[in-house]
Amino acid sequence: MMQRPIYLDCHATTPVDPQVLEAMLPYFTEHFGNPSSVSHAYGWEAEAGVKQAREMIAQAINASPEEIIFTSGATEANNLAIKGVAEAYFSQGQHIITVATEHRAVLDPCQYLESLGFEVTYLPVGEDGLIDLETLKETIREDTILVSVMAANNEIGVLQPIADIGEICRERGVLFHTDAAQALAKIPLDVEGMKIDLMSLTAHKLYGPKGIGALYVRRRQPKVRLASQIQGGGQERNFRSGTLYPPQIVGFGKAVELGLAEMDAEGERQSKLRDRAWEELSQLEGVYLNGHPTQRLPGNLNISVAGVDGTALILGLQPVIAVSSGSACSSQSTAPSHVITALGRGKALANASIRFGMGRFTTEEEIDSAIAHTKTTIESLQKAKV
Ligand SMILES: *Cc1c(COP(=O)(O)O)cnc(C)c1O
Repeated sequence: MMQRPIYLDCHATTPVDPQVLEAMLPYFTEHFGNPSSVSHAYGWEAEAGVKQAREMIAQAINASPEEIIFTSGATEANNLAIKGVAEAYFSQGQHIITVATEHRAVLDPCQYLESLGFEVTYLPVGEDGLIDLETLKETIREDTILVSVMAANNEIGVLQPIADIGEICRERGVLFHTDAAQALAKIPLDVEGMKIDLMSLTAHKLYGPKGIGALYVRRRQPKVRLASQIQGGGQERNFRSGTLYPPQIVGFGKAVELGLAEMDAEGERQSKLRDRAWEELSQLEGVYLNGHPTQRLPGNLNISVAGVDGTALILGLQPVIAVSSGSACSSQSTAPSHVITALGRGKALANASIRFGMGRFTTEEEIDSAIAHTKTTIESLQKAKV
C-alpha cells in the first residue's frame, strides 16, 4: 500500500481520538433514546450522557450548562450568533463590527446581513495579524449591536487580545461574540474573565467528531437575546430546534475533557515542534513567517515563500506532507488567502503560503521529515525559477 503523507493539517480537522470514539459507541446502539423523551429510561439514559457533556463543555469555558446550545458545528454557531443577534437587536441598531481575517463562516453571514441593510465594519489587522484596540474603540458607535472577533485564527494561528476586546465591549454596552473553533482546549478560555457574551465552538478541531459544535449564549449580565435560526420542537431553550445527537455530543464532551487535561503539556510540546520547524525554514532565502511570532496557537506555523508558484509548491509537498495553503474551505479556489492578503503581503506571497498544523499525534520524527522535504521542495522550485 502506498504510504500516506504526514498529516499536518490539524486546523482543517483532526482524527477522532480512540477514547472519544469509545465513549460515543454505546450511544448509537444501547443508549439510543431521544434525550427529549422524559417518560422512560431510554430517554433518561441519553439525556444523562448529554447532560454530562454539557457540564464538561460549560466548565471548560467557565459558563453554566444552560448557556451551552448544541449546534452542528462552528459554522452554524456563528450563523446563529450573528444573524440571531442582528434579528433580535434590529430596533436598537444595525451596525456590526468584525475583522478582515475572520473565517468565512463569520464573513459570509455578515455579508448576508449587509444585503439586508445592516452595516458591517471589517477591521484591518497589522502585519502581525492583530487588530488595533484603539481602532476598535473608535469604530464602536451608538448603533453598534455586535462585535465579532475570533479567538484564534484558523490560517495563521494568531491569538487576538480577547480579554481586552471583551472589556471594551462591556464598557460600551455592545455584545461580544468570539469564534473559538480553533481555540477550545488549545488556550485557556473564560467567558467571565474575558467578558464574552457569545462563543462558537466545534468538536472536530480537538479530536472529537465532525458535525457537532455549540454556541455559548450568556444568560445574565447581560442576558443575550437571540432569534433562533432553526425552528421546530423547541430543543436547546428554543434557540436551536431538532433532536439532539447524543453520540456526537458525548464525543464532544469527552474530547473537551481530554483536551483540557493535556492542554498545558501539549501546548508546550507543540510550541517546541513549531519553533524548531521555523528555526530550520527561516534559514532559507525568501521565506517569511505569517502572523505574530509568539501570540499564536502552539501548533501553528504559516509561511510564505518568495519566488515560487503557490500551486507548484503545494503539489511538490503533497506526496510527503498533507498541508494546505490557506484554509481547507477556500483551498479549492485559486484566489490568494484573504487572511494573508490582509497582513499586507503581496498577491504572490499570499499565493505561495503553507500552513503547517501540528497536533496531538504529531511526532518529532514527522516534523523532521516534513522540514527536510519542505526545504528541498522550496530550494528546487526557487532554482527552477531563476
Ligand atoms: C473550522 C472552523 C469553523 C467551521 O467549523 P465547523 O464546525 O467545521 O462548521 C469556523 N471557524 C473557525 C475559526 C474554524 O477554524
